[in-house]
Amino acid sequence: MLDHTHDPKRQSFVISANGHADFPIQNLPLGVFSPRGGEPRSGIAIGDKILDLPATLAAGLFEGKAREAAQAASGATLNEFLALGAGPRQALRARLSELLAQGSPEQDKVEACLHIAAECTLHLPARIGDYTDFYVGIHHATNVGKQFRPDNPLLPNYKYVPIGYHGRASSIRPSGVPVRRPRGQAKPVDAAVPEFGPSRRLDYELELGVWIGPGNGLGEPIRIDEASGHVGGYCLLNDWSARDIQAWEYQPLGPFLSKSFTSTISAWIVTPEALAPFRIPQPQRPEGDPAPLSYLMDESDRKEGALDLELEVLLLTPGLRAKGLPPHRLALSNARHMYWTVAQMITHHASNGCNLQPGDLLGTGTISGPDLTSCGSILEATLGGKNPVVLASGEERRFLEDGDEVILRARGRREGYAPIGFGECRATILPAL
Ligand code: MN
Repeated sequence: MLDHTHDPKRQSFVISANGHADFPIQNLPLGVFSPRGGEPRSGIAIGDKILDLPATLAAGLFEGKAREAAQAASGATLNEFLALGAGPRQALRARLSELLAQGSPEQDKVEACLHIAAECTLHLPARIGDYTDFYVGIHHATNVGKQFRPDNPLLPNYKYVPIGYHGRASSIRPSGVPVRRPRGQAKPVDAAVPEFGPSRRLDYELELGVWIGPGNGLGEPIRIDEASGHVGGYCLLNDWSARDIQAWEYQPLGPFLSKSFTSTISAWIVTPEALAPFRIPQPQRPEGDPAPLSYLMDESDRKEGALDLELEVLLLTPGLRAKGLPPHRLALSNARHMYWTVAQMITHHASNGCNLQPGDLLGTGTISGPDLTSCGSILEATLGGKNPVVLASGEERRFLEDGDEVILRARGRREGYAPIGFGECRATILPAL
């Protein structure tokens, strides 16, 4: 999958793209945006600009499969584009890489289709039919399990089943949209009966999101060796969680209102092609773990089915903001801490015949690393609220407070390749109504 579009020496005539932390010419993620005063449309992030895809198509700059992809992507959602799969997507990438390169013979026509990103509004890139959240971050599962069952943190199914639950699609919002603190039912440990009110244990969850591409028909499972062909791209996902509501409601059927009030995603779809340089072998299972059942085993997935992506959580509080201090880094983790690969998640999800559709979203589950500096939730970082995080402003946090802003970032970095990022996934907490 590696070709000239990944060449680290490749530069764009969009000067801000060269060396850009997120969007150099080697990335080329797709999204949906509105220019000031304009209608939503699809675009490509390049440096601090956005290339207007329908305008580029109208200028006659695409042919063949790239044109087919640009046509499918020219509405106000990218579902049709996601349905096309890898071939047209790769042709579009190759053509965009030519059009935006330094020395592009079409530079004048392409420049006329660029918008200043800071003046645009980003939207959800697709109509999300269904959202499923997994639990494949093994350090998170272990840390959280320990708080409830110190001697037996992982339940016996964990190493056989990529655990997941069906989430809520209607409340997913793009980066930048504030999150309202939920009200709900919770039972304090020392209380005899539950009470209803604003959550007191509001948390974030650092996750990768996976956009489904072509998908499968009802009743038709997806084989593990075909699963990667159904990945349309990736984003960051903050699965906001009200821990007090969750602890009371989750047995026996799992999370419900503690998660469904809002989930925030980064707005750009980072393609599997852009992430090709950052593929790594699936980490070795610890000694003594069972092998996956055969429907979840594939040699090429084992060799290159995992991702090496730095994942970061930052917190900006009212106190830090007032003193002009930078956001506090709560965690630096990595996508390599997934016990199951994305292909295994997809194959397992479809193994009973459940149909995945273009624009469906999967969450990986919280991706924590092995220590306290790499926790993907504050529940883990503060050991259930016992050890507060202390900030440079003098503030302390056991859980999130109103006015706090949580920022997730992801970055691929590998010797010999241009680093790329996902753009931010950020949102501020509003007081409960
Ligand atoms: Mn989650």
